[in-house]
Amino acid sequence: MKSSSKASYDYVPVPAFEDNYIWVMADGQSAVVVDPGDAAPVEKWLREHGVKLFAILLTHHHADHVGGVASLLRTFSHADPIPVYGPAAESIPVVTHPLEGGDVVKLAPPFGDFKVLDVPGHTRGHIAYVQDVGGDDLPHVFCGDTLFASGCGRLFEGTPVQMLASLDSLAALPDDTQVHCAHEYTLSNIRFALACEPANLDLQAWDVRARGLREQGKPTLPTSIAHEKRVNPFLRADQAAVREHVLASASAQGVALAAAGSAGDRLGVFAAMREWKNTFR
Ligand code: ZN
Ligand code: FE
Repeated sequence: MKSSSKASYDYVPVPAFEDNYIWVMADGQSAVVVDPGDAAPVEKWLREHGVKLFAILLTHHHADHVGGVASLLRTFSHADPIPVYGPAAESIPVVTHPLEGGDVVKLAPPFGDFKVLDVPGHTRGHIAYVQDVGGDDLPHVFCGDTLFASGCGRLFEGTPVQMLASLDSLAALPDDTQVHCAHEYTLSNIRFALACEPANLDLQAWDVRARGLREQGKPTLPTSIAHEKRVNPFLRADQAAVREHVLASASAQGVALAAAGSAGDRLGVFAAMREWKNTFR
C-alpha cells in the first residue's frame, strides 16, 4: 500500500498475528522494520521484494512487537550488523541501541532522522519515533500501542496521568503527521468512540469509511493527527459530549471516578473513559 507521502519509498503495514501491523519502510533496496513481533511475515515480504533488512525500531517490550527480532537477525545478518533500536527504560535483550526521549536516530538516506518521544502509559518505557523527512514530504510517527485509530493502548504499566501526557505529546505533532499504529483495532475502537460521542458527524462518516475499507480487506491506517483530533475520544476528553457520556456510563457502572481525580476534569474523564473501554463490549 502506498502512503500519500511523496517520499521515495513506501510505508507498508505487514499483517501479523490476529491484528498486528509490522510497519516496513522500504526504498526498493533496504528496509527499516518497526516492531517485528513475528519474523515470518517480514521475512516473506523482504524476500518477495528483494529488499535488505537495514535497521529495526522497537517501541516497547511486548512479545507481539519484539518476538521476531532474534530470528530476523539470524536470517539477515550480513557483513554489517543490523542495529536494533529500542527503549532504554525496558529490558529487551535484542536491543543494541537503547534510546530515551530526546534522542535522535540518524539513519542513512532516504530514511533520515527519527526523533524519540517518551510515551509511557501502555508500558513504562514505551517510546515513539517521529520521522523527520524534511522537504515537502509528510511527517510520520510510529507510536506502537500508544495511540490507535480512534483509540489508545491499555494501561498495563502506566497511569492515566502518564498516558494522557503521552497522547498530548502525540497530538501536538503537526496535523498532517501520518500515524502508524501497531494494531488494526479501528472498528471496535469506533464502536466505543460512538458510545462516547454519538453525535460526532466526523466519527459517523469515519465509521462508514472504515467499515468499507475492512470489507475490502484494506487497512484503516495510517491515520493522521488532524483526523484523530476529530474522531478519537481519548484526544477529546475536554469535549462536553464526551464528558457527559463517559460520566453517565461511569456512574452507571460504578467506575471509581474518585481514583481518577475530580470527576469533571479532563484527566478524570480520560481515566474513566479508559476504564470503561476495558469492559466495553
Ligand atoms: Zn503492547
Ligand atoms: Fe501490541
